[in-house]
Amino acid sequence: MKYVDEFRAPELISKAGEEIRRLADPKRHYRIMEVCGGHTHAIYRFGLKDLLPENVELIHGPGCPVCVLPMGRIDDGLSLTAEPEFIFAAFGDMMRVPGTHGSPLEYKARGMDVRIVYSPADALKLARLNPQKHVVFFAIGFETTAPSTALTIIRAKAEGLRNFSVFCNHVTIIPAIRAILDSPDMRLDGFVGPGHVSTVIGCRPYEWIAKDQGKPVVVSGFEPLDILQSIVMLLRQLRDGQAIVENQYKRVVPWEGNPAALRAMAEVFELRPYFEWRGLGFISQSALKIRAAYAEWDSEQRFTVPGVRVTDPKAAQCGEVLKGVLKPSQCKLFGRECTPEQPVGALMVSSEGSCAAHYNYSQHRPVTIAAAASL
Ligand code: SF4
Repeated sequence: MKYVDEFRAPELISKAGEEIRRLADPKRHYRIMEVCGGHTHAIYRFGLKDLLPENVELIHGPGCPVCVLPMGRIDDGLSLTAEPEFIFAAFGDMMRVPGTHGSPLEYKARGMDVRIVYSPADALKLARLNPQKHVVFFAIGFETTAPSTALTIIRAKAEGLRNFSVFCNHVTIIPAIRAILDSPDMRLDGFVGPGHVSTVIGCRPYEWIAKDQGKPVVVSGFEPLDILQSIVMLLRQLRDGQAIVENQYKRVVPWEGNPAALRAMAEVFELRPYFEWRGLGFISQSALKIRAAYAEWDSEQRFTVPGVRVTDPKAAQCGEVLKGVLKPSQCKLFGRECTPEQPVGALMVSSEGSCAAHYNYSQHRPVTIAAAASL
């Protein structure tokens, strides 16, 4: 398959692995953060860590939107299901994320009207089909999914559809990277930049990381060869004492991003003064809220939500894992109290969560690229 087979070709993968081993200075230890949960998933799925020398360490970043959402926001969204006229609609990967009183799926089992949708447009369709009900779309995601939420809100307004609103949890990636770089317990040498987010925001927003922080960034695709090539590019920069932003994923990511998507976001959203992230705490201007012009389609402006703040269970170390301070298997609950079947934290739920990826793939090592492709 075009753009897949050539990026999984075993001979090219071994060559990239050899190049990484050649470039890695044995006297140094490299800590490279893959920002995006999609990369974390691919790294585990394809066993890419096995191809790296011991002194090239991959640190999982905060780029799984389900994982960074604090439990209180889940509780707030689900609080709206208490009224029988509400339909709570969310993506499938939200369904098993635990809130204080259960996950959306458990609410559904108790008789609340909870539906899985594949897009915000599907939620809008639900509203059209159920005029006697109010559909709340629980929106999550980085800049990757925010444009489709924005366009759906514009559409709802154009249609005058008043039985639809969005509980907005969209977050932005740059402030999260800034928070990680400001964290005193974090030392990083460079970033594998997020491919999906960058299709919307482009590569320019990362330039401060290279210029001000002296850390190279390579925006990367998601196939095994993409990720390995990106590590090669980072190691070359580090060898040469360089720090610039490079785009490995040129076949998908335009340097300037997607102006139409950015316009739709700017029309509907503005920055929240601050937003709470699981593990990272409150980060200023790191999330989107719906502008007053679209208040009619904002669940938070239209209805009363409790504004719950909940701390994660004490033994859960999701925060440390999200910040890359701990590996998933170093959490005391990993694989015992917390498993994909019985998740305690969100990182064990989403396929992009580092705990779920570690749990699902690490026990089956060694995984060949060909075998992983069929998983
Ligand atoms: S194992 Fe569970 S509790 Fe521990 S960090 Fe991962 S998701 Fe959180």
